[in-house]
Amino acid sequence: MATPRYKRVLLKLSGEVLMGGQQFGIDPSFVAELAKEVKAAKDTGLEVCLVIGGGNIFRGMAGAAQGMDRAQADYMGMLATVMNALAMQSALEQLGVQTRVQSAIEMDQVCEPVIRRRAERHLEKGRVVIFAAGVGAPYFTTDSGAALRAAEMKCDALFKGTSVDGVYDSDPKKNPDAKRFDTVTYDKVLADNLKVMDASAVALCRDNGIPIVVFSIREQGNLAKVLKGEGVQTIVQGS
Ligand code: UDP
Repeated sequence: MATPRYKRVLLKLSGEVLMGGQQFGIDPSFVAELAKEVKAAKDTGLEVCLVIGGGNIFRGMAGAAQGMDRAQADYMGMLATVMNALAMQSALEQLGVQTRVQSAIEMDQVCEPVIRRRAERHLEKGRVVIFAAGVGAPYFTTDSGAALRAAEMKCDALFKGTSVDGVYDSDPKKNPDAKRFDTVTYDKVLADNLKVMDASAVALCRDNGIPIVVFSIREQGNLAKVLKGEGVQTIVQGS
């Protein structure tokens, strides 16, 4: 039998994939579909950490652009990620997957605080750990939160599930001739400002040797394929 490529992974989903066909918010039927993908990945024996963005509900930058104080708007964005984490927790538990939510902003009544050793234990017991509230500080994004937790939990790779099937040399929605990379280095992503994750997240992955696998989560069954090294994806790695 082939050796599995990964033992422990961090899956980052942008908030917008929870909207399904809606313009805003959470579509529970779509979250249920995503939960099935996560369950299928976990059922292969993988240890799964999850980070979900909040862009389907609130983004700090958007609030700041409309005149709000940036830090205050970012706190709202972080709270949005907790709502998404709870929605995903509920969907996973309905499928019989044990989960724990750990938030970088403490809210005892709702979920656990981030405690690395406790998260380790959850993973050992086969639970999916959903890390909410990013890094717990304004002026960051959940991409940075994902990179931080991937490093902290010693994940073998960070899988970024978005609506695009990889990293392109220009925006594929605007340029029909845009080319997708199969692999690309962290340094090229940073130097050319390629749209993968924000620079601090890419740098954190580079400094800790964590490959970033960018793939489309919108296609059913794609996560399982990408975890096996199949399917369309871009791997961001060292040279
Ligand atoms: N946020 C923050 N600090 C963090 C993570 C998130 O302030 O460590 C706020 C920020 O305002 C961000 C919002 O939460 O815009 C939602 O997260 P993000 O934009 O990363 O979500 P995604 O684009 O992945 O849906």
